Formats: sequence, structure tokens, C-alpha cells
Amino acid sequence: MTVLRKHLFDLPEGVIYLDGNSLGPLPKSVGARLSSMIADEWGAQLIRGWNGAGWMDQPRRVGDRVASLIGASDGTVTMGDTLSIKVYQALDAALKMRPDRRKIVSDSGNFPTDLYMAGGLIRSLDKGHRLETPKPEDVIAAIDEDTAVVMLTQVDYRTGRLHDMAAISKLARDKGAVMIWDLAHSAGALPVDLAGSGCEFAVGCTYKYLNGGPGAPAFIYVRPDLAADVDPGLAGWLGHEAPFAFDIDYRPAPGVARMRVGTPPVMQMTALEEALGVWDGLDMQDVRAASIALQEVFIRQVEAKVPDLTLASPRDPATRGSQVSFAHPEGYAAMQALIARGVIGDFRAPDIMRFGFTPLFIDEDDVLAAADHVAAVFTDRLWDNPEFQKRAAVT
Ligand SMILES: *Cc1c(COP(=O)(O)O)cnc(C)c1O
Repeated sequence: MTVLRKHLFDLPEGVIYLDGNSLGPLPKSVGARLSSMIADEWGAQLIRGWNGAGWMDQPRRVGDRVASLIGASDGTVTMGDTLSIKVYQALDAALKMRPDRRKIVSDSGNFPTDLYMAGGLIRSLDKGHRLETPKPEDVIAAIDEDTAVVMLTQVDYRTGRLHDMAAISKLARDKGAVMIWDLAHSAGALPVDLAGSGCEFAVGCTYKYLNGGPGAPAFIYVRPDLAADVDPGLAGWLGHEAPFAFDIDYRPAPGVARMRVGTPPVMQMTALEEALGVWDGLDMQDVRAASIALQEVFIRQVEAKVPDLTLASPRDPATRGSQVSFAHPEGYAAMQALIARGVIGDFRAPDIMRFGFTPLFIDEDDVLAAADHVAAVFTDRLWDNPEFQKRAAVT
């Protein structure tokens, strides 16, 4: 079944957008929905909107929508804050579940904020926890009986390398460790069987493949049989059992709602809630098959036309997420040259040109045209232009 739904997205004319893995494009209906939220809810209902427009219940409602895209059941996911905060919460709760163990296993391909948050938490706890970051291929060997928590991002943000969620979750369980998956580059990119993996926690963001817009709220999943025992380190009033009792003692809400912290970003969450409509009726298996087909065409075309580029992603599509990366010493400037031609990807230091494939708004013609532009940039050394060499703050 085709998953192409270009008509649902507001993409600028002349742009081939291969960066939906970093910031998903604007679904067409979001603008009108936000306008109505502002006028009819905030404007007209004022404070009454918390009840009347369902704002207070939104983290649960949107959480259920996200859950359905990551193989989790209703009531197991809540929304809010940013992914960095959700990583902190999950890790903090996980460490408390293994008080006698001190080792956290992640990997050197993880997104830096996940590792920074772990480092900051370790310093705050001051209990001698240590974070190990072996190479992604050495993670399995690092998980042992001393491991308190395994905290991994399923799809490597630079290379697209895909960890085997089922196998690693099982290994963690066999060794008695708590498993946390970061699904930043998985949610909306590929089928995820979160419940089937048996992992304890998962987190992710919604401004990448889920198109929630810049700063859209993050999500956190807690395995339902554990949720009633999880001790939330960031014990905010909206994770309280009865926020409007204004009790001075904290009692966590039943279930995953205890991972809520403070006032939800209602406008961002409304944009996300509307944006999630593009997934209605889609099967993630079909999305995955279409994504792989596009990636394979891109790799074949680029390698045939530009022998100078080195594939930095796994060649086997079964071990790759929904992105393709090529390494080149002039990668930054080459990407700027490509963007100037309307092919938008991005760059990750030190030398990675990254291209994301979202088959909801990218088709094979786009991929063929993009590969031609890549070829033109390298054949004509278009990167060799001072304007393209200047580094911007966001790459
Ligand atoms: C995108 C991404 C983040 C970003 O975290 P924010 O708090 O939303 O800025 C964190 N971790 C991973 C693995 C990511 O890919």
C-alpha cells in the first residue's frame, strides 16, 4: 500500500526535504487548528480551557496516539517537557530500581544530551555510579551482572545504525539490568514493538518524524506493571495523585501520569495532536518498506555518481533506521551547497552528510533528483565556495 501523502504537508515549492528526521515538516492542517485553539480555546475560554477544551487531559490523550505508533498500549505513555528531561527521569527511576548496582551502559554513538544528562544525574546522586560508553557494536559485551541500567538510542543519529531492540532488551533482562530505549529516531520512522521488547522505559521526541514542530513535547513510556512502583525524581505537581488538593505531601499519580512534571505546553501539544493525524490508517510496516526502498535507490544512485562519498550508514537496510549518511571531509560545505539547490539534509560533525527519508512526503522522483544534485555538487566542486564554508550555529 502506498504511504505517500504529500498533499497533507505544506512543503515549500522547489524543496526536496530530506531532513524530516531532524525537524518534520508542517502538516497543512496544523495552522488552522492552532488558530482555532488560540481564538476559541485560549481566547474565548480563558482559564476554563483546562477543563472545557481538555487541556489537562492532553498529555494522556496524545500519549495514547504516540503509544499506538511505538507498539505500546493505551495509558502507558505520557507527554511533556523535552527529551533531555525525559531521559533524566527514566534513568533516575531506573537506577532506584537497582540500588545495589552502579554501572550504566550506553554507547559512544548515543546523542550527547543523553550522556550529559546521565553524567549530571550521576554527579547529583553522588553514589559512585559510572557511565560506560563502548562502541555500539561492543554494547552486548558490556552488559553484565553489575549493570544497573542499559540506556541506548535505538537508531544512531549520525550513522542510522539500528540496535536490535528485542535481543538487547532480553540480554539486559537476563542480566538483571533495567532497559531504557530512546526512540528519538525510531518513532514514526520504523515499526517498534515496545511492549514485546519487555523494556522498562522508553523516551523520545516528537519534532522529528512525528512532525510536532520545533520544541514539541517529548514522550515517556513506563512498562505498565511497573508504573505504580516507579519513584519519580522530578516530582512535580501535575504528576501528583490530586494536583488540586494542593497537599504539601507528594503522592504520585497512579500509572505513567506520575512522570508528568509541570504545566504542559498546550499550544505545542495541540500542534502535535493535529500533526499526528497524518498517521491515521497507516501501517508502520508499509512505512518501513517504503523508506527502505527510497534509501536503497538513493545509495545506489549516489555511489554510482559520486565515488568520493563514503557510505557511513550500515549497508544492510535491516540494520539501518530511516536515514542515510555519507562521510566526506568537505561534508559541511557540500551540504550548504546542496541546501542552496533546494535539497535539504543536514550535517553532523565531524564529516557526516545526513539524509532522512520519510515516505509520507518523499517519493522516488525526489530521491532521483536529490542524487543528481549531490552529483552536481561534487562533480563541480560547488562546496569550494567561501559562502558555504562558514559554519552556522545549527548545522
Ligand atoms: C534529538 C535528540 C535529542 C534531543 O533532546 P531535546 O531535549 O529534545 O533537545 C535527545 N536525544 C536523542 C537521541 C535525540 O536524537
